[in-house]
Amino acid sequence: SSLDNGEALTAANVDANARSMPLCMSQLHSGLKRDHKLKHQGRLQYGLFLKGAGMTMEEHTAFFQREFTKIMTGEQFNKQYGYSIRHMHGKEGKRASYTPYNCMKIVLGSPPSGGEHHGCPYKHYDDENLTALLGKLKIGSEGRDAIMKLKREGNPNLACAKHFEVVHGGAGSVEGVSLEGVGNHPNAWFAASRKYYE
Ligand code: SF4
Repeated sequence: SSLDNGEALTAANVDANARSMPLCMSQLHSGLKRDHKLKHQGRLQYGLFLKGAGMTMEEHTAFFQREFTKIMTGEQFNKQYGYSIRHMHGKEGKRASYTPYNCMKIVLGSPPSGGEHHGCPYKHYDDENLTALLGKLKIGSEGRDAIMKLKREGNPNLACAKHFEVVHGGAGSVEGVSLEGVGNHPNAWFAASRKYYE
């Protein structure tokens, strides 16, 4: 299928792979698709996640360009965002290598304000918004209650791991699916989910 675990993440298949993203990243993905832009912290959080999932600089640029140029010209896009994407991939400035954020960094980072989509929904969203969002994702009331209980208790990582468990039934016994890191790193969630659907 087009979702084979080993297949590289590209501008062409990122939409189909969004179902395997943890809630923080699927929120950034849908925010980008809806607004045709992302603010600074969102571009970093999402961009580094994509890079961590194996998306190349060329595909990252093509994907963001496709979305952003729905509200601006290609020239504006290149001028305003080209450099920072190349920078994220270590091709500009100090050529440092930037690693994707783990959950601790996202959870402890600044909460999103209006028009922003970064952060951890299990930490930064209020209960009402999060419950509604889980309902929209067609998570049944039993699963939703179990997730929300952990969230309310102040355990975003456990709430996120519970979300994984609820939407990937029996994942623990599927060969090749590693649950290690699910709830601690967005890229672990993504890799485990892609493997599950393989
Ligand atoms: Fe994302 Fe981690 Fe929060 Fe899950 S716990 S939504 S992977 S930041």
